[in-house]
Amino acid sequence: MSGTAYLVCDYCYRHCRLKDKEVGFCGVRERSRDVIFTHNYGGLVAIAVDPVEKKPLYHFLPGTNTLSIAMFGCNLTCSFCQNYAISQKAWDSSAQRTYYTAREVVDLAREKQCPSISFTYSEPLVWQDYMIEVATLAKQEGLKTIMVSNGTFSEEALHRINPCIDAFNIDIKGDDAFYHGYCGGSGRPVWKALEQIAQSKAHLEVTTMVMEGVHTIEMITSIANNLFSAGIQVWHLSRYFPRYQEQRHETSEQYLEAMVKEVRSSHIPYVYPGNSSLDQNTYCPQCKALLIRRTWAFHDSSIDQSHCPVCGHHIYGTWL
Ligand code: SF4
Repeated sequence: MSGTAYLVCDYCYRHCRLKDKEVGFCGVRERSRDVIFTHNYGGLVAIAVDPVEKKPLYHFLPGTNTLSIAMFGCNLTCSFCQNYAISQKAWDSSAQRTYYTAREVVDLAREKQCPSISFTYSEPLVWQDYMIEVATLAKQEGLKTIMVSNGTFSEEALHRINPCIDAFNIDIKGDDAFYHGYCGGSGRPVWKALEQIAQSKAHLEVTTMVMEGVHTIEMITSIANNLFSAGIQVWHLSRYFPRYQEQRHETSEQYLEAMVKEVRSSHIPYVYPGNSSLDQNTYCPQCKALLIRRTWAFHDSSIDQSHCPVCGHHIYGTWL
């Protein structure tokens, strides 16, 4: 109603209450009279063709390319952000944008022979109206859709987004102290969303960036136990490199290797090191047969109609 003291944005867990002309925490959503709108709708700050493994998704259409797109913005303030120039408010006005309609994005995916479109690089939650428009058209035209997110959904947003996304990669950044200290946010909404996505039809993989000395064995083990309880099948533990405001030294291969070794006994069936030269292959959790060879990208797969060709064990994923 006109003149309402405030309107609530329900795009993420923050539920910002906006007076007229106010901008939300993300700097992307703004109230104008009786509506909240998304700044620079359709203005892409990044567009690229990536191997789907780069999202990272290792169990979803492996060996294919995905058209990756991003609008500007994020609702967290991670000090180590790897893409800060297209996500953090201070760079908003300097970001170069090219405007694409949903139709143009879908046509481009076809032209580039990508069977999927990924919403990635920044935080798609804060530009979810555009994501939903593109994803809906993409699905109508037989393309798959991928969302790479920090997972801080509101209930309403998850309800809107889940039906139009085929595969998610969600970050679990650390324990609650880490979310408060390094990200300006909370892990609670992320765990809630993760559990709901895990129970839906969508494909789901999880990523945790490991910062040496900060992500301890105790923290990673505790996350592993919670992921296992939530039914998570695929977990990427990736090496941290210094970016943005965070200058501590990069995580060593040895540190990551120790973490991966520890959590491989957590019963999560598929655990992968990321940003690393460590073994990235997929093995059958039951008979240990080598199923997919990959380095940073896919090489070959022996998975036979979602099953291990040696022992017949069902392998989680969406396979060609
Ligand atoms: S997207 Fe999140 S941070 Fe941005 S205005 Fe909406 S509720 Fe606030």
